[in-house]
Amino acid sequence: MSQYRAPLRDMQFVLHDLAGIDEVAKLPGYGDASDACDAILEEAAAFAGGVLAPLNRAGDTQGCTWKDGSVTTPAGFKEAYKAFADAGWIGLPVAQEFGGQGLPSLLLGPTLEMWNAANVGFANGPLLNQGAIEAIELCGSPEQKQCYIPNLVSGKWTGTMCLTEPQAGTDLAQVRTKAVPDGDRYRISGTKIFITFGEHDMAENIVHLVLARIPGAPEGTKGISLFLVPKILVNDDGSLGERNDVVCASIEHKLGINANPTCTLNYGERGDGAIGYLIGEANKGLENMFVMMNAARFSVGVQGMGIADRAYQHALGYAKERVQGRDVASRDSKPVRIFEHGDVRRMLMTMKAQIEAMRALSYVTAASLDYAAKHPDPHVRKQHKAFVELMTPVVKGWCTETSVEVCSMALQVFGGMGYVEETGIAQQYRDVRITTIYEGTTGIQALDLVGRKLIRDMGSTATAVIKTMQAFHAELESDAGLEAIAEPLGKAIATLADVSQWIGMNAMGDPSNAFACSVPYLKLWGITAGGWQMARAAKVARDKIAAGDPERAFFEAKIATATFYAHHVLSQGAWLKRQIVDGARDVMALDEAGFGLDRTVKVRV
Ligand SMILES: Cc1cc2nc3c(=O)[nH]c(=O)nc-3n(C[C@H](O)[C@H](O)[C@H](O)COP(=O)(O)OP(=O)(O)OC[C@H]3O[C@@H](n4cnc5c(N)ncnc54)[C@H](O)[C@@H]3O)c2cc1C
Repeated sequence: MSQYRAPLRDMQFVLHDLAGIDEVAKLPGYGDASDACDAILEEAAAFAGGVLAPLNRAGDTQGCTWKDGSVTTPAGFKEAYKAFADAGWIGLPVAQEFGGQGLPSLLLGPTLEMWNAANVGFANGPLLNQGAIEAIELCGSPEQKQCYIPNLVSGKWTGTMCLTEPQAGTDLAQVRTKAVPDGDRYRISGTKIFITFGEHDMAENIVHLVLARIPGAPEGTKGISLFLVPKILVNDDGSLGERNDVVCASIEHKLGINANPTCTLNYGERGDGAIGYLIGEANKGLENMFVMMNAARFSVGVQGMGIADRAYQHALGYAKERVQGRDVASRDSKPVRIFEHGDVRRMLMTMKAQIEAMRALSYVTAASLDYAAKHPDPHVRKQHKAFVELMTPVVKGWCTETSVEVCSMALQVFGGMGYVEETGIAQQYRDVRITTIYEGTTGIQALDLVGRKLIRDMGSTATAVIKTMQAFHAELESDAGLEAIAEPLGKAIATLADVSQWIGMNAMGDPSNAFACSVPYLKLWGITAGGWQMARAAKVARDKIAAGDPERAFFEAKIATATFYAHHVLSQGAWLKRQIVDGARDVMALDEAGFGLDRTVKVRV
């Protein structure tokens, strides 16, 4: 079993020295929150380590239970949710008029990281709840906002996102749930599957945000609307009324995140349909849902990174205790801790370097969320919005894929003890696996990156970001002392520029060629942008050392980690380019028969 200790020093470094919390906090509406920032982080760390982390293992082994439509969460979860809400964590980024704290979105970087590292099974509840709050804030009527948001912020109620149906997963054009007008409301009928916290015992009401079609709506994604469907109907005076016709038919048995229920919800089983209220304009549901899904995609990227950091801490602790084998560089026959072995050190450094790169890139992206929302200059807002849009699939896709690798490597450090459940590392490996799947698979993030963010935009945002990286690299090159980082960074940026141009040129003539290697392209973006942030970190560290900063050891470690990243991770740019430019055609080269199955295999679903 592992403890969780939030990596506060690195979080503070990224917030202050890379993401610029001091400037972000001065944006209109934030009331210069920078002074409070470190105290908030310390409180969050105490909550994550003291309240959430101790429930993590029991949550996994005990799981959720379903009986006659009701779901019981693991022992302690209900009380933890109340404590979480009472401490104000749900409302951190929510406007004060709805009972929130109105703090910068940038603080979501470290706080989300802590909740998810400590207990991802628990943290999924607030993550989806935040999505529901944002959707209502974005497109609800003034009455809907006043009725629902304060209750979602106080923790009295929770929210869900109900998109998926058996035939409509990635492809939401196939949504069939019906919404029939009935006066000023709608009657909803259909089945949603895989709904996180769709039913539970942690709050007195659940507010489902449901995608459905109004009869006569256009086919495909242009005919989908968004509805608010409370589990218990709300009376005009705000009190709870009758139970709505929404039933949890079952919960899934999963590989991981066992502490949260994944529900099948039936709407309108009793007859006329569950009562629902349109949110925003009819037929604009998917557009509105996408705004909130982008926020959720960012959060899932951070979620993956948080679990990876927990796994790294766990592996590091084990490596420092487990004694096995001799030191190859010594004549001493006494066995040493596995931490002394080069290969174990390589694994630990790979994990540490990638986690720090993911942390830096995701917090820097979160800072841009704040600039995009609050900066007084519309041109600056537009630039940051474009950066966030480009980086969202990268943070989601690259951070989660890398986090799965990090957790696998952490398990490897444990040897055979990693493969048994008692140590707890197996849980982190199982838990992290979902992050590359929900909120849009990695394949879908990569399609978004290539299709919407590169090709549709004619490469303009990608080119602007690459130019920013090139300008930084030029500064770094002329700077003595960081050559070992500058050279691999320069090569990776040049590779990214070449490959982006190659995809742009291929997209018109041969789209399947351009899209076949969109996931390696997404990874190229991730490792390069992560390397850019690591190099920025190394430069700050070098300057601090030169200025005689007393935290010399921390800054030396930063430079060593960034140098490791440059050699071991940025160097992957060359083979990713080979995969994409030389290998894209190979992907579609075989016809179906060539794959080897000469009969259709029945898939059990
Ligand atoms: C634990 C859990 C919790 C979840 N929570 C929620 C929730 O709260 N609310 C909710 O609405 N949903 C939820 N989901 C559903 C989740 O978002 C979907 O599972 C996910 O979007 C993928 O859809 P699918 O499972 O139907 O896979 P499919 O769409 O069938 O995809 C299968 C494979 O095909 C690939 N693929 C599909 N289409 C394309 C394409 N056009 N181009 C390239 N590749 C493609 C995918 O990348 C994937 O590898 C949850 C799922 C799980 C397992």
